[in-house]
Amino acid sequence: MARNIGSRYTTHQILGRGSAGTVWLGEGPEGPVAVKLLREDLASDQELVGRFVQERTALLGLDHPRVVKVRDLVVDGNDLALVMDLVRGTDLRTRLDRERRLAPEAAVAIIADVADALSAAHAAGVVHRDVKPENILLDMEGPLGPGGAHPALLTDFGVAKLIDTPGRTKATRIIGTPDYLAPEIVEGLPPRAAVDIYALATVLYELLAGFTPFGGGHPGAVLRRHVTETVVPLPGIPEELWQLLVQCLAKAPASRLRASELAARLKDVLPLLKGIPPLDVDELDSDQGAAAEPEPEAYATGTGAGEPAPRRAAVPLVPGASADSNRDTHTSMRVPAPDELSGGPLGTARAPRPAGARRPGSARHKAGAVRKRRITLTVAAVVVAGALGAGGYLAASGDADAPPQDSKQSSLP
Ligand code: ADP
Ligand code: MG
Repeated sequence: MARNIGSRYTTHQILGRGSAGTVWLGEGPEGPVAVKLLREDLASDQELVGRFVQERTALLGLDHPRVVKVRDLVVDGNDLALVMDLVRGTDLRTRLDRERRLAPEAAVAIIADVADALSAAHAAGVVHRDVKPENILLDMEGPLGPGGAHPALLTDFGVAKLIDTPGRTKATRIIGTPDYLAPEIVEGLPPRAAVDIYALATVLYELLAGFTPFGGGHPGAVLRRHVTETVVPLPGIPEELWQLLVQCLAKAPASRLRASELAARLKDVLPLLKGIPPLDVDELDSDQGAAAEPEPEAYATGTGAGEPAPRRAAVPLVPGASADSNRDTHTSMRVPAPDELSGGPLGTARAPRPAGARRPGSARHKAGAVRKRRITLTVAAVVVAGALGAGGYLAASGDADAPPQDSKQSSLP
């Protein structure tokens, strides 16, 4: 049934549900639109509504072909709605769920589009902070690009920052989607543009491999891997592409590429990827169940040659917490203590993952992987590197975004 949103828009049917609200197919004076109605508890928060109104210009200001344009902000009674351009298609998560892995050419074409979007946003001083497949929309009506990929558009700009209030989330808590969180966020540093690059590289890895580089198990274990672990190589992709991934998944934010550089280098790599089928990456078999994580020495000395790769189990950082098997759940937990992050208590904290608890996107492959774990990496080094990195970015770009208390997203059920 049609419902009025303000005096200019009506909504008709649900297009999708997100963490912040429900997106409806709507009609406005200029034709069809997408209307995101914020969740009731968010829309009834007067302070939050005030900040949306205050940021109206910034929200409506981003104008780029790879960014889903926000056309209007409507505050009407208990409704708070963002009116956006309608993208006729699907989101990248839906495509990934269907196909599991994309051919490298299509994957890179999609990520290059998103890197273009980020480049425009970062130039305007906006950090997205929630780059993930759910927030990448594929325009099925647009022209087919390399690898048969539809044009990709990034949505939800600025929303994470707005919903995030000091009152709503404590400064000592980390809130976000764990698989895509840059290590400096885990360390409690404010999110700068480089967090978007890390998240986007994570999405690229996921499109190629069928799983994220550091996902799987309890969110605490995922967070620790972001800080301490090295990404496992993907067999079968050109070295140029692998190097891009490694650079953008660097622990130190300053070592990552800028969005514009990343977009350019991805486009350079595209011709090398023609005709390469989706990778045949062997995955960790979850239904063999509760294998414990091997001793750290096994990682440190592994050569990869014919050696079975060690299995991963969830390692809760928060004692007594249960594994989280829902990708959409934003995690809300305290910033881990240094000894927890360093991997020191691995031997004692080790716990089996309940059978079936692994999320489909988070499997780990084992095909001849050289699993060098940086178990000797100290947290101090990471903190220093992260701080230098963030400072480096700040100095280099003049980027002056969120203050520290703003570095978390809202806790969203
Ligand atoms: P949230 O920020 O609350 O997580 P999203 O903006 O990610 O919500 O939207 C949730 C879903 O709604 C998306 O995954 C997509 O399927 C659909 N959607 C969002 N924006 C649009 C749009 N502009 N056009 C068409 N569908 C959209
Ligand atoms: Mg979203």
